Amino acid sequence: MANCTHDCGTCASACGSRAKTSFIKPPHKNSKIRRVVAVTSGKGGVGKSLVTSLLAVRAQAMGLKTAILDADITGPSIPRGFGVHELASGTDGNILPVTSKSGIKMISMNNLLEHEDDPVVWRGALIAGAALQFWTDVVWGDIDIMFIDMPPGTGDVPLSVFQSIPLSGAVIITTPQELVEMIVKKNVNMARMMNVPVLGIAENMSYFACPDCGKRHELFGRSKAAELAEKYAIPAVARIPVDPALTALADSGRLEEAETDPLAEIFSCILASREIKDPLN
Ligand code: ADP
Repeated sequence: MANCTHDCGTCASACGSRAKTSFIKPPHKNSKIRRVVAVTSGKGGVGKSLVTSLLAVRAQAMGLKTAILDADITGPSIPRGFGVHELASGTDGNILPVTSKSGIKMISMNNLLEHEDDPVVWRGALIAGAALQFWTDVVWGDIDIMFIDMPPGTGDVPLSVFQSIPLSGAVIITTPQELVEMIVKKNVNMARMMNVPVLGIAENMSYFACPDCGKRHELFGRSKAAELAEKYAIPAVARIPVDPALTALADSGRLEEAETDPLAEIFSCILASREIKDPLN
């Protein structure tokens, strides 16, 4: 490329020299993680953290040793949905994750802040560094499946995470609104540039099921999930309704009681995704 700065760490181009360079970092020496799934979205507020949590709830309920790495450093919301408010402990270079009631291990910026409401006002490089430390410095132990709640968008921080953590695949979260195709396309392209398979697309707030007549109302417009999946050859689709009960469970830290059946198809694809045998290869 004519304007190449030779700093592949901040570039998303799929040029020839990138193919020879690997930025993958190994996890902590006492971590053995078999599958890692990135949960991504084009923008914030679409329910990415909620869906990450529901996937983890489903995995843990199936008896899999499950973990969540909250890489959304400036908008951390994972522990709150599980009612986990304690601070993570550890010594220099060894952070111990916190654990939910059902045994899901997790780490989030909120487990490191004295006050959960403190804002994280850092520049991009520091934020990306923190997200990667959750991979390299947390003693995860033996984990069957880890879900990463990615920072929204396709900027610096998600790019670093995609480049540095070995991923089995990615799940894209959208809502049925205008511009959704452009946003999904950016996410799909980013994953494919990094050779990460897209395992599924989850359309959140897809409809509202009327409790009186049972009819589905598409509050935010016609569902586009199936046609996007077909167009971009994404193997699984989920449609998650707007459900006030879900908001209530998330707000009261009881997400482990939530219904996860809408995610069944995506979950099958996750279980069939590649295992991380050697993180550096
Ligand atoms: P993101 O991680 O994309 O920023 P969140 O998962 O934090 O978004 O969701 C934003 C808010 O919307 C949260 O309060 C969450 O509980 C709520 N929410 C998300 N999806 C649903 C849904 N399907 N039904 C009801 N509330 C939802």
